[in-house]
Amino acid sequence: MEKYLTPFWLSLRHRLWTKRLWLSSFLAVVTLVSVLNSAAISSTMSVQASPTNPQLGDTVTVLIQADGLTEATPTVVMNQKTYPTFAIAPNRFRALLPTTPLDPPGSLNIQVNGAGDPQAVPQKLTLQLRDRDFPTQSIWLSGGGSDGTDYEFNKVDAFKALVTPTKLWNGKFQRPSEGEITTVYGVRRYYNGEFASDYYHRGVDYGAGTGSPIVAPAAGKVVLVGREADGFKLHGNTIGVDHGQGVASIFLHLSRIDVKEGDVVQAGQQLGAVGSTGAATGPHLHWGLYVNGQAIDPVPWRYGNFE
Ligand SMILES: [Zn+2]
Repeated sequence: MEKYLTPFWLSLRHRLWTKRLWLSSFLAVVTLVSVLNSAAISSTMSVQASPTNPQLGDTVTVLIQADGLTEATPTVVMNQKTYPTFAIAPNRFRALLPTTPLDPPGSLNIQVNGAGDPQAVPQKLTLQLRDRDFPTQSIWLSGGGSDGTDYEFNKVDAFKALVTPTKLWNGKFQRPSEGEITTVYGVRRYYNGEFASDYYHRGVDYGAGTGSPIVAPAAGKVVLVGREADGFKLHGNTIGVDHGQGVASIFLHLSRIDVKEGDVVQAGQQLGAVGSTGAATGPHLHWGLYVNGQAIDPVPWRYGNFE
């Protein structure tokens, strides 16, 4: 009997031992899965966009709450183009997405990526970009129009491409001139009767007398000073102010420039004076506001807070 008993007990003990091993490894797997799960849950990003019903020319703000993201900074892709985000609080990021009169109305497909964080699940969001009626102008040109120079276009292109990390503006933007608005943002044009499909008025014009002051609509750093005498034939005397994080103002046709490149300016600080240098039919200020390289409608920036 003992002959049979021993192997039986041995085999029972062995079976129990195996079962315990199996059970503990099962528990280990369960624990590992739940750890992975909780990590995935804690690094899920929540995304909000405003306005929820934008129209052509609006700047769309995307806010990302990204708890548990390790080091990575999220990026935002809208209609195949990638935009930077900036931290505005711990684990909170903001992207500014430009829209213009040249965009097709309809779906804006926005995707937020965790940028290198393997546990961040990409978030998708779709907004409907509303169409908008812009005024039109008919321009009749006889002979060649006034062409700009490569020098000024290169300088202005480099200015528009600038994205610096520090936010310098604070709250609502001020009007840069006391003059009344003579041409609104987004005006479309017909040249000699033909619709100019890539033209829109990339800013707001203020009519004011030559020599009347131009002030900074928000704090920033002067990063562009262009003079008609140096080749700014089309833009005329020009100032470009970087407000940081891809937001920048350009001021055209000035009669006088009171700042130099590198100057840090405060909101309301005088930059120069209204004029009609470059391609201008009369004294006025052209103020263009750019977000990540695109001329957006400055009006929402005057009345709303982009923080
Ligand atoms: Zn203008």
